[in-house]
Amino acid sequence: MNKDTPVDIQGRRVDQTLCDAAAALASLPQAAPRLEAELLLIEATGWARTRLVAWPEAHLEPVAAARFAALLARRLAGEPIAYIRGRQAFWTLDLKVTPDTLIPRPETELLVEIALELPDPDRPRRIADLGTGSGAIAAAVASERPAWQVIATDRSADALAVARSNFRDLGLANVRPLSADWLSPIASCSLDLILANPPYVAAADPHLDQGDLPHEPRAALTPGPDGLAAIRRIAAEAVRCLRPGGLLAVEHGFDQGAAVRGLFGDHGLRDPQTRHDLAGLDRVTLGQL
Ligand code: GLN
Repeated sequence: MNKDTPVDIQGRRVDQTLCDAAAALASLPQAAPRLEAELLLIEATGWARTRLVAWPEAHLEPVAAARFAALLARRLAGEPIAYIRGRQAFWTLDLKVTPDTLIPRPETELLVEIALELPDPDRPRRIADLGTGSGAIAAAVASERPAWQVIATDRSADALAVARSNFRDLGLANVRPLSADWLSPIASCSLDLILANPPYVAAADPHLDQGDLPHEPRAALTPGPDGLAAIRRIAAEAVRCLRPGGLLAVEHGFDQGAAVRGLFGDHGLRDPQTRHDLAGLDRVTLGQL
């Protein structure tokens, strides 16, 4: 037995292992203890979740127990569960994620919902997802709207490689990864819709030191001292790239709604509106050219 193992599990039953691991994980501020214990045990054993539930009295093989102990130790040291598993659920998809990409959040699905509100779903459209990271937003929209051409930009080559691998694994032929700093290589007046979950946390925000955030790419979380710097640039470039009547929808912090509506208006986007996430907080602002 490795004396660094935080929970004594070798040769133990599945139910005891999960119970002890969940108790240990409850010490982490933002963990979902039981779910995470199950996900780590699935990762360590290769078993289906139904098997963990249906056969709680099964004993773990020593190799699986050791793997589980190692994964649990990483999680207890604060590493995000998504990076340990290398996967994250988003929309209807199961996506590859690495420390080169932000971990897709449930509140970001609001951007996908807004895209799907556009009328005439079968009409061909050109849309862009800026700073795509793992490709989550682009992949979700492309999977729901096969008639649309989706461009997924990122300036990080490592993030774009993850996005490309997700698009390929999901068999999405209508989404194209593109190395770009926001919209710089995109033709003027060429897009019907621009979506972005840009960095919007101000560099001094203590939230950057909490939960999963210290493990995520800094450049995907914060644009620097001014949390609105990236959104300001996106708004300025979007008005060049949108077709007349085109839409820009951008995710932002819960306290940035009024400021984002203001800067959308300053750039000539009409009727900026802010939508709430599931927690009832300002999360996405949209405006029309
Ligand atoms: N929603 C993330 C968080 O605050 C931030 C993501 C971003 O900056 N785009 O946890």
